[in-house]
Order: sequence, then structure tokens, then C-alpha cells
Amino acid sequence: MRQILVAGNWKMNGSNAANQELIDGIVAGVPDGDGFQLLVCPPLPYLAVVAASATGSGVAVGAQNVSEHEAGAYTGETSAAMLKDVGCEYVIVGHSERRALYAESSAQVAAKFVAAQAGGLAPILCVGETLEEREAGTTESVIDEQLDAVLDAAGVAAFDSAVIAYEPVWAIGTGMTASPEQAQDVHRHIRERVAAKDAAVAAKVQILYGGSMKGENAPGLLSMQDIDGGLIGGASLKASDFLAIADAAAGN
Ligand code: PEP
Repeated sequence: MRQILVAGNWKMNGSNAANQELIDGIVAGVPDGDGFQLLVCPPLPYLAVVAASATGSGVAVGAQNVSEHEAGAYTGETSAAMLKDVGCEYVIVGHSERRALYAESSAQVAAKFVAAQAGGLAPILCVGETLEEREAGTTESVIDEQLDAVLDAAGVAAFDSAVIAYEPVWAIGTGMTASPEQAQDVHRHIRERVAAKDAAVAAKVQILYGGSMKGENAPGLLSMQDIDGGLIGGASLKASDFLAIADAAAGN
């Protein structure tokens, strides 16, 4: 039985005061139960303070990006060990915004995935197709390329301590959500692709859905067999919105 992971990606939003209010609100409203895990991914400057506020609450903290390098002359970069040092347990790699806006290739994403694990973090590997790719019927081949780059670089066993997030690019921040059935089809495909290498790893790996998830559509998405949680952008910026999804994960 896979645990549900509800992960908030705060992106480049907030301030000291706003992020304090947000984490305090989330911590105060964590639903009862143990079949789920909550995670918040604040912007880099707030990681340590948010991690301190979340200590003992059951809410984990993750980062939104990591260097593929271990240490050294990489101005502006942050290593996995540093993120771990300030209280992170997870890091998002390969978010579509980083692939599109910062030209991160699948090979670079794979290197970040490997570096994250070497530094003691659980990577959340994002994969997903654009609208044009979906309409061209290439959704599965796009995802295969993104996933295979990491399977080849890290090995399938690495997915024993990693998470995959299926995030159709056309659903991110647009209010257009994949239907539960559309999402389930891709999630099943991802699990089968991992299973072709190792069935036991595939049965265990959490596959999150991301793309305009909110309290209203979360129950339908989370009811699907291969959807094990959500990676949430917009609805993670208000405690009550995020907690509505957490409630769905807790079965309330
Ligand atoms: C995201 O950016 O990962 C995301 C899913 O955003 P939103 O929930 O706003 O679509």
C-alpha cells in the first residue's frame, strides 16, 4: 500500500512574513491519520526557517531545485548536502518550468537526480508533455524520454527512494486539469515502464499528479489506482486550499 504524498511547490512566491503565516497555517491544520505525508517546497531563502517551523509537525520540507555538482566554484548554485543540512528531505528535479525557462535537458535533470540522492535527498522527478505534444499523440514517447534518461543514469533501484510526478504542462497553472482517467492512463504507463525494469520497485514508487489540483478535483484524482498524491502549485499558497487537498488525501 503506497502512502499518499501531498507536496506544495511554492515556486518564487512569498516573503518572510507570508511564508511564516503559510507554514503556521498548514502545521495547525494537518489532518489526523497516517496514510499520507505532507510536504512543502518553499523558495531557497526560506527553507531553514520553514523547516524549523515544521519540526515535529509531520510536515516535511523540500527544495525546488538542486545543483548536479557536489561542491565548488558554481556561483549561485546549491548542493544537495546544503539542502539536507538546512532540513530538506526532498527536492523537485525537472520541473517543466526549469526545463522550459532554464533549458534543463533530460541529461542534466538525471544528473541532478543522482546528485540529490548522493546528498541524502529524495528527488521528485517531474515529467510531462506540452499541449502540442499531446495533440500530436506523442505524450508517451515524451515521458519515456524524460523517464529513461533518469532510469539509465541512476538505475531502477534508485526509484526505491524517489518520487515521480506526472505534470502535463498544459495543466500547470492554467486551471485545466487532466481528468482522473486521462491522468490514470499516463500514471499506469509510467508504472509499467518502471515495472519493465523492476516490478517490485514499480509497485512501490509513488507517482504524483500535478496540474491545477485543488480541493474540488483532488478526491477524483486521488481515487485512481496509480495516482499516489499531488504536486501542487497555486493551491499550495493558501493554507486552507492546501489543507483541503490534504483532507482529501486523509479521506475526510
Ligand atoms: C506545478 O507547478 O507543479 C503545478 C502543478 O502548478 P499548479 O498546481 O498551479 O498547476
